Amino acid sequence: MSVARQEISGNVLTPQGFIRGKLTVVDGRVSGIEGQPISEGQARVSGEPLILPGFIDLHVHGGGGFDTMEGGNAVAEIARVHARHGTTSMLATTMTAPMADISRAMAALADAVRTHRRGGAHVMGVHLEGPYINPGALGAQPDFARPASVAEVKALHELAPIRLITMAPELPGNLDLIAPLRAAGFHVQIGHTAGTYEDGVAALQRGATGFTHLFNAMSKFHHREPGIAGAALAHAEFAEIIPDLLHVHPGAIRAALRAIPCLYCVTDSTAAAGMPDGDYNLGSHRVTKCLGGVRLADGTLAGSTLTMDQALRNLVGMGLSLDDASRRVATNAADFLGLADRGRLFVGGRADIVVLDAALHLTQVIVEGDPIDLTDV
Ligand SMILES: [Zn+2]
Repeated sequence: MSVARQEISGNVLTPQGFIRGKLTVVDGRVSGIEGQPISEGQARVSGEPLILPGFIDLHVHGGGGFDTMEGGNAVAEIARVHARHGTTSMLATTMTAPMADISRAMAALADAVRTHRRGGAHVMGVHLEGPYINPGALGAQPDFARPASVAEVKALHELAPIRLITMAPELPGNLDLIAPLRAAGFHVQIGHTAGTYEDGVAALQRGATGFTHLFNAMSKFHHREPGIAGAALAHAEFAEIIPDLLHVHPGAIRAALRAIPCLYCVTDSTAAAGMPDGDYNLGSHRVTKCLGGVRLADGTLAGSTLTMDQALRNLVGMGLSLDDASRRVATNAADFLGLADRGRLFVGGRADIVVLDAALHLTQVIVEGDPIDLTDV
């Protein structure tokens, strides 16, 4: 499907820093990176194309008017929308809902996971965001929270491959499920939780490895009661954060950057991402997009309209180096899932590539060697 051989000239961001030269792609893989090392400063002022690893978003509910929970062709359409914003790999993220609705959504998206559709991001599997969450920390999740069971997760996994599960460790029984879920190959994130600091630490000890949209829908940090946010800041190696600058204050993002080595960005994007202001579905909720945010009628933030190219620009706008920002929109998420073939540009890796101009706007997106049409709406 991919163009057999391509050559892209510019400044290539590799794990060893920028190389001024060219990157070649053969049959969906990076076949060569040639040139001279240069500093990031030189790369940024050169005016030449900036060639970075494609973005990886582990928390995507929707885009382009489509929502993961609506079934049908929705996930393939969502993957197309986000590819036009530089996302080359993603997890389709389900909402808390009655089990029949989750099952229906997963059965519908299985096809998009098993067969990569040309023109879209690679849908690597499912992020099950609930229903195993605390009804007292729903955020914008509909109120269908319930305790987890390994058998139920495995039954859902039969419908479509689950990579990641968000759960609240303080719910009865959930803590004891983390080790068996981990042993069965699922990554477990702590999220939508009203748990204590101790609950967070216990979950990490049982094998949870991340936190879902750090600071949002979790017990807050207080110096005498550090909460789940405190457990993350004190102990996490990995955590998601939503850098739309609405969900989390830049100061809190900076605190998290200092505390959590592999903090990485997710969009938590809804159907409203890539769409004009108006009303959209988010699972069974009706949400409104305006002033750059998506909210329930009561004003609760309900996912975002963020795209990963904007996430990169927001981080660089906060003062991060492009190298650091790139790791937080690509490399760290790959490492979190243990994916060695993507998230960085190296010979033999997947040719998942974004090319940016000096203002960090996308000029090319390539998914496994397949160029995405950025004008296609
Ligand atoms: Zn979400």
